[in-house]
Amino acid sequence: MKHPITKTSLLTLAGATSILAFSSASAHASGEVNVYSARSEALIAPLLDTFSKENNVKVNLITGNADALLSRLKSEGDASPADVFITVDAGRLYRAKDAGVLQSFDTDHLNNVVPEYLKDREGYWYGLSQRARVILYNPETVSAADLSTYEDLADPKWKGKICIRSSSNIYNQSLVASMIDANGEKQTLEWIKGLVANFARPPAGGDTDQIKAAAAGVCDIAVANTYYFGRLGLSDKPEDRAVFNKLKMFWPNQADNERGAHVNVSGIGITKSSKNTNNAKQLIDFLTNKQSQEWYAKVNNEYPVIDGVAPPKSLATFGDFKADTVSLSVLGENNRQAVTLMDQGGWK
Ligand code: FE
Repeated sequence: MKHPITKTSLLTLAGATSILAFSSASAHASGEVNVYSARSEALIAPLLDTFSKENNVKVNLITGNADALLSRLKSEGDASPADVFITVDAGRLYRAKDAGVLQSFDTDHLNNVVPEYLKDREGYWYGLSQRARVILYNPETVSAADLSTYEDLADPKWKGKICIRSSSNIYNQSLVASMIDANGEKQTLEWIKGLVANFARPPAGGDTDQIKAAAAGVCDIAVANTYYFGRLGLSDKPEDRAVFNKLKMFWPNQADNERGAHVNVSGIGITKSSKNTNNAKQLIDFLTNKQSQEWYAKVNNEYPVIDGVAPPKSLATFGDFKADTVSLSVLGENNRQAVTLMDQGGWK
């Protein structure tokens, strides 16, 4: 209760786009927990509200842009009111760890339910949901039999056929970081050069733009995260569903001798400055229970991180897949190298 988030104290700080407080049902909450989230309010607030009511803990939520929230945590330092930080991509979670704004922790529950590869190896963050980076293709121009691996996307047979966003995007940096781990630096640089030579156009736009470009015939293959594709299939807009229906999804690197599809997470950590670590741990245990995982995966069109929870309807048609189980800590550790190689390889 030492650093309550109030509108007056927070509005003076840059980076917040939304402030929301969930008061517990009881007049005397047993404490509070302050959440900084790079995920928008609609994707997390109802869960926090349930937690607040069930546990008699007041939850204060600040949402904002991922990079702005991290800068804010850094500038607030020990004085930060935040207890918990939620963001997407292991590369970004690593940046928060590396910046010294998180602390190592665990709970019996987390140790039991979150797989090793979906958390920081030193316990600075834990995955809350999984997404895979996959190949979307136009079945009128590409045969699934010709697709196989990420590595194969550098084959000259795909010249002028591939859409993928820029190298400044963390999802691509993390994919390359995983490839450095799997294939080494030298081979990864060659791969980047081959991939760039196969681009249908200079990188522009986000993942959804790549998918739409493939549906429009600008390219035959797009690389994007699963939730972007799943979301189009559920859209109220007929033109979005037409994009979804025009393309098919391919799981890369599934053969027995392959490592599996590249996955990444949205994740959560406890801040170094936290004054409410017990409440923070209780909240993180709650977010990784079965009911929360089911809800969170559904609204985000993502895969749960725990066993025994089915993927949401939007992803059900994609079927089962083998995930690359390299520790996601590697994505952060190799990030700088990945950015350097992408630059050297001419990936704009
Ligand atoms: Fe995204």
